[in-house]
Amino acid sequence: MLHARPARGGRGLARESAACDEYGMMVLTTAQVNRARLIRSICGLGLLRILLALSVCAQAASAQSRSVAITIDDLPAVSTRRDIAVHTSITERLLATLQREAVPAIGFVIEGGLETNGRPERERIALLERWLAAGMGLGNHSFSHRSLHQSALETYQQDVLRGERVIRPLVERHGKSLAWYRHPMLHTGRTMQTKQAFAAFLASHGYRIAPVTIDNQEWIFARAYDHTLDRNDSAGARRIAEAYLPYMDSIIGYYEQQSRALLGREPHQVLLLHANRLNAEYLDELLALMRRRGYRFISLDEAMLDPVYERADPYTGPAGITWLHRWAMAEGWTGSDFAGEPEVPAFVREIAGVS
Ligand SMILES: [Zn+2]
Repeated sequence: MLHARPARGGRGLARESAACDEYGMMVLTTAQVNRARLIRSICGLGLLRILLALSVCAQAASAQSRSVAITIDDLPAVSTRRDIAVHTSITERLLATLQREAVPAIGFVIEGGLETNGRPERERIALLERWLAAGMGLGNHSFSHRSLHQSALETYQQDVLRGERVIRPLVERHGKSLAWYRHPMLHTGRTMQTKQAFAAFLASHGYRIAPVTIDNQEWIFARAYDHTLDRNDSAGARRIAEAYLPYMDSIIGYYEQQSRALLGREPHQVLLLHANRLNAEYLDELLALMRRRGYRFISLDEAMLDPVYERADPYTGPAGITWLHRWAMAEGWTGSDFAGEPEVPAFVREIAGVS
């Protein structure tokens, strides 16, 4: 049986931000301070808190030019459950939200996930067809999700080609081209020689590298969410979801700040998410949260028109990190320059089994 969406608590992020939407555009004149006092008397909130909220909202309202491309990795789905009913539910719910909200997105496919006993299953391929039928894009995320840091280049490249056997004809039948590659774990190579050779390989097969600027640990929340659902712990699932949305709000804010510090502006951002049960349930709230921050949603193609993506990525370290931090390291940023990245709460890590 598919899980039911856990009931929400009455005092969540959405409720606090509703006040933000309503008052975000205000300038704090005397009349409005009086109004804030009135709100305080009605809601029992402190005046200082209201003023702070108004200030934050005014900042968000002034940044209406924010834009982001939504990229969703590990299609057809990533979950502790592999039964087709769960994968179908994840697909349908993600696509329903994206279509209802008119948000373009691209899904990155692990073709190995389509196979059972060495053969791609028709009903899993059908899930990918739904993405295309919904007007979304598909990209290559390799066949077996291997790391370029732990593979010989030739082996890795064969895995990339094996990862397009289903999706290339599928995409082309829908009148599109297979244009984007996303490195698993964002592992892009430990030497410039490897990176350049692989970039040439990708280009020769018609691919561009899909970068990420807003990276996050959403996958840890998703794993914890899966574990709670698997043991029918709806209260636990709700607790994780209620921690997930504020975490995403704060990490998006962190990358906005890092963008301004590095570039003096916020570029077209690229957000990395995964096709999991957590997002199937909460993508609508995540999108609403981003709209409140002033974002509009654009395609990956449009995001890449930002000239910032002409910058080289010289990073050859072991981590899978955002392109913002790759560019920052190239400019000499160190330690404290990166401080302030929000952390996943300990209880979420514990449930997920991630130390
Ligand atoms: Zn992945």
